[in-house]
Amino acid sequence: MRIDLHTHTRASDGTQTAEELVRAAAASGLDVLGVTDHDTTEGWAEAARTAAEVGITLVRGIEVSTKHLGRGAHLLAYLPDPTYPPLLEHLRKILDGRSSRVPAMLERLREAGVDVDISDVRRAADGTAATGRPHVADALVTLGVVPDRSTAFRRFLNPGRPAYVNRYAAPLVEMIRVIDEAGGVSVLAHPWGRHGEESMPESALTELAGLGLAGLEVDHQDHPPAARERLRAIARDLDLVVTGSSDHHGLGKHDHELGCNTTAPEELERLLALADAASARSTRTTPEVLR
Ligand code: AMP
Ligand code: ZN
Ligand code: FE
Ligand code: FE
Repeated sequence: MRIDLHTHTRASDGTQTAEELVRAAAASGLDVLGVTDHDTTEGWAEAARTAAEVGITLVRGIEVSTKHLGRGAHLLAYLPDPTYPPLLEHLRKILDGRSSRVPAMLERLREAGVDVDISDVRRAADGTAATGRPHVADALVTLGVVPDRSTAFRRFLNPGRPAYVNRYAAPLVEMIRVIDEAGGVSVLAHPWGRHGEESMPESALTELAGLGLAGLEVDHQDHPPAARERLRAIARDLDLVVTGSSDHHGLGKHDHELGCNTTAPEELERLLALADAASARSTRTTPEVLR
């Protein structure tokens, strides 16, 4: 049984439609696929239709942009009620903040001598609700300014680079509570990815586990082997679910092929049991656990 619990579609910043992604997952031999676009559930319906068609199990998720200890943190929300108003309200605020800063980024690019029109970005984003830096990067690629997304981030879009503009993110602790109220389960995505251990020390993980965090994404391409082993030990001590996933973005991220990291079946079982329990406690009106 091969399980990949974190992937993206064009509903956020992947390069595949939900249908293409799910077909590719089945073709690559995955049995279970988590579709977890940034801050949106827009890809779920198409992913579910295709999953039923090709006979793989879909786990519905959202990778929520949050902030903790002054830094960004990505929180995977699995199987929440997508109609729970406080969750919708947070996602709306995050998505608004993500796209409303695009004009400011283009202004900074102009100051740096690079002319990108908002229509170039819109074309790259192709109507996604979550227009952000990846689409500005794609516009820069299309215009021939940079060869690929990563170069665009390195030269222009990362914090400290000329076109970086900060945006709203939900407080992490509050989001863990909202996801629980929505009958979902929270797993911290790549906890030591972008900024290494200092951004999310063991003491912070311990505190978050006490506040309802259910799991850690241990096996992720941004974690070197030593980080994975330490995170695995921390998860064991704190009785947290351990997940592994590709964080696949289609052609949008190199070295994140579907199934390059996977989640053990017994860990998925724990996660689903926790979702069932959260659902039973919640006021959800959507089907218990959609899977
Ligand atoms: P934004 O939400 O607009 O701030 O964009 C952040 C998203 O950009 C992240 O969640 C990643 O999916 C993507 N991203 C960040 N850094 C890179 C990079 N170096 N190369 C490609 N994509 C990246
Ligand atoms: Zn992304
Ligand atoms: Fe992430
Ligand atoms: Fe991701």
